[in-house]
Amino acid sequence: MENPRVFITRQQISARIADLAEQIRQDYRHKNPLLIGILKGSFVFLSDLIRVLDIPLEVDFIRVSSYGSGKESSGKIEVVHDLTTPIEGREVLVIEDIVDTGLSLSFILDYLRQRNPASLRLCALLDKPSRRKTPVHIDYPGFTIPDRFVVGYGLDFDERYRYLPDICYLEEDE
Ligand code: 5GP
Repeated sequence: MENPRVFITRQQISARIADLAEQIRQDYRHKNPLLIGILKGSFVFLSDLIRVLDIPLEVDFIRVSSYGSGKESSGKIEVVHDLTTPIEGREVLVIEDIVDTGLSLSFILDYLRQRNPASLRLCALLDKPSRRKTPVHIDYPGFTIPDRFVVGYGLDFDERYRYLPDICYLEEDE
């Protein structure tokens, strides 16, 4: 059985979100941006971020299948839940929980770019650069973390642990 150990506390997360929100607010204050959350993992981060941002904005979601079950990427990516909002001419800010290999994000950014948004930027709470297989530029990065599997604050392991308020490592019990 795995045992979640706290890695980034809820206080550290909210302090970092306040910094990110300050930058995003400067850049998007009068632009009515469309924030696109990547399901499922980003929903907790997105909901905290928009309340701290406190500027007019809209929200939509997209879901791709990348990881099957477990901790390894399946390598095959497809859209399983599409946007409901047209994005042509919109100021689009993608909100992601974690960038790992970068494969899902580069697929999603290409997919969105084909729909001609006025601008397209990325905010990601967590970045694991050591695992990158394709380059992804993160305009608003939260925390850089080492190559360990994390859960909590929206992130799951086989649908478990999303509800944990802190970001945790999974450790095997003795
Ligand atoms: P990438 O395509 O960058 O390899 O994978 C991104 C997706 O993989 C994330 O949106 C997330 O769903 C999943 N992922 C990558 N690393 C982790 C991790 O450490 N913990 C969890 N729970 N999911 C991860």
